[in-house]
Amino acid sequence: MNFDQYKYIVVGAGFSGAVIAERIATVLGEKVLVIDKRNHIGGNSYSYKDAATNIEIHKYGSHIFHTSDEEVWNYVNKFTVFNQYRHTVFAETNKQVYSLPINLGTINSFFRKNFKPNEAKEFINHEINKENLNNPENLEDKAISLVGRSLYNAFIRGYTKKQWGVDPKVLPSNIITRLPVRFNYNNRYFKDKFEGIPRDGYGKMFEKILNHENIDIRLETDFFEVKHQILDDTKIIYTGPIDRFFNFKYGSLGWRTIDLKMERISGGDYQGAAVVNFTDEQEKYTRIHEFKHYHPEREQSSKETLIFKEYSRQAKESDDPYYPINTEEDKVKYKQYQEESKRIPNVVFTGRLGSYKYLDMHQVIKMALNVFEREIRVDK
Ligand code: UDP
Repeated sequence: MNFDQYKYIVVGAGFSGAVIAERIATVLGEKVLVIDKRNHIGGNSYSYKDAATNIEIHKYGSHIFHTSDEEVWNYVNKFTVFNQYRHTVFAETNKQVYSLPINLGTINSFFRKNFKPNEAKEFINHEINKENLNNPENLEDKAISLVGRSLYNAFIRGYTKKQWGVDPKVLPSNIITRLPVRFNYNNRYFKDKFEGIPRDGYGKMFEKILNHENIDIRLETDFFEVKHQILDDTKIIYTGPIDRFFNFKYGSLGWRTIDLKMERISGGDYQGAAVVNFTDEQEKYTRIHEFKHYHPEREQSSKETLIFKEYSRQAKESDDPYYPINTEEDKVKYKQYQEESKRIPNVVFTGRLGSYKYLDMHQVIKMALNVFEREIRVDK
């Protein structure tokens, strides 16, 4: 392989890498090589169709596209049609199923009440005021200050412990603000203006993003094995883990990873929704995904369904990183890597892995569009 012919090399074919490669190819009209160590494009957003059932498998877990950003929405719509799916999540605790995020329906069924919104607010405020949490600084205190202890114990404590592998008391409070609390019957998981799933799947969407005469793709190629063949003045857009780039010299950054265990199950519908969370600590998995529900518009098997049990655990260096843990120690290490990265201007670090941030797909795309404008286009 001759790497000399490329002024731009993108490492990683997930959203950040694919978007930046597309911009280089389309806007700058330059040739760009995208390499990825996996045997497919799409990063953790990748999905493909199961031949037997026509179910779209999200290989790395559920990905639901949502954004309120017009620029991002217009951009992604160039590469796919989105279906009308609207995400809802249910939570099983103590052998009962409730609606998430915590809303009036959840509160009424959980406490066996028939509250109107204001009555529920008053009731929950009373629950919160029993505690004395003036300045909640960790996830547990923050959650209790939002919903009170009983709801926290039922829906948040066990799930969070399984998801992050530590006591919620040592986690930053901002994670829980991803989950709203509502005093109405709105059970939509997201509140963004735009939402949907690519009609033909994320895999096909990525094929379209990267389908350009200026873009070459090399899969099953580990950047660190070919790095020595790349010329020094090549602009590298690196979307892999930043600590790996520097050979972990300041130590490894903490990541959670997940294992998805697939089961083929006879019958058309296993759980009635795409995602059911299991919020009790004794159930070892965090949630079950049933991908069939993401495509109500699609012809899929009525005899068989696929479910995926999700187990969360600490990532080793050889695992796929998913969620940055971001302990105080991690923050110090990341800062050191970030400082070091400033000293090599020909390499741009971006994406969830490159910036060590818990970003959703739409945020990664926004970041990629901005990085292209500010750090790649200006350089030209
Ligand atoms: N969470 C929880 N119970 C749930 C779902 C989420 O306590 O049933 C908490 C948990 O701490 C989790 C955070 O909310 O890490 C964010 O959840 P979200 O669904 O946004 O995470 P993602 O879909 O990105 O895994």
